[in-house]
Amino acid sequence: MTELELLVDLHKDNERQGPGSEAETLRALSLIETAHNDGLKIADIGCGSGASTMVLAQNTTANITAVDLFPEFLDKLRVQAQQLGLTQRIHTVAQSMEELSFEDESFDIIWSEGAIYNKGFEKGIQQWRRFLKHGGYLAVSEISWTTHSRPKELEDFWMAAYPEIDTVSGKIKTLEENGYQPIGHFILPVACWTDHYYAPVQSRFDDFLSRHNHSETAKAIIKAEEEEIALYNRYKKYYSYGFYVARRVDF
Ligand code: SAM
Repeated sequence: MTELELLVDLHKDNERQGPGSEAETLRALSLIETAHNDGLKIADIGCGSGASTMVLAQNTTANITAVDLFPEFLDKLRVQAQQLGLTQRIHTVAQSMEELSFEDESFDIIWSEGAIYNKGFEKGIQQWRRFLKHGGYLAVSEISWTTHSRPKELEDFWMAAYPEIDTVSGKIKTLEENGYQPIGHFILPVACWTDHYYAPVQSRFDDFLSRHNHSETAKAIIKAEEEEIALYNRYKKYYSYGFYVARRVDF
């Protein structure tokens, strides 16, 4: 298996593939005025195995297009949708967020939890804007600084990993500069990282290593995951995901 296949294998059976929770998905949904209108169309981009997709489907009457690059995650999503009786309203698309083939102005809401960084926040919000109807909503979570300043070691790490990390006010400014009206934002609480994401994946480390015969690649993946968790535990007061809800504005 390639490194990418191993990563998918490690994460695909988890409730979610990044920090978040049902409560925080609902909190973002509560900021959207039209969320309970009939006939709503939502795209969930970088949906993974569908943690947010299921919450959106269970709490609206929307038709949801769930997009992810990896078919293995979408297979899991479809199983969940089937179990919850939601298949009529959830349609999966295995496609890169780099080359989405949607019609212009086709969605009321674009949702994306912990995934827009794969494209880069600013490019993502610029390129997805045309898929939103006028006045449509964008709801994205994105890695953000939660304080004005931070230790140099942490700053250096993130500048190398994802230089687009910014303060909450910086992210909001980027939204404003790119044709969006900010509606609301909040910071994901610690439990979204620990209880809902890191603890479940950590509980699979031993099984993952033995299933892959302690290969060098599998060990390197676990080492990187452990380093990520250690970094979070050490510096969690300085960064988290910000959840941003904004509206397409046209002049
Ligand atoms: N939204 C999910 C959640 O919160 O559980 C998944 C978040 S995970 C951190 C990022 C997701 O982006 C993964 O499911 C991954 O497969 C997907 N992804 C990565 N690159 C992508 C791309 N180019 N196009 C579409 N999805 C992509």
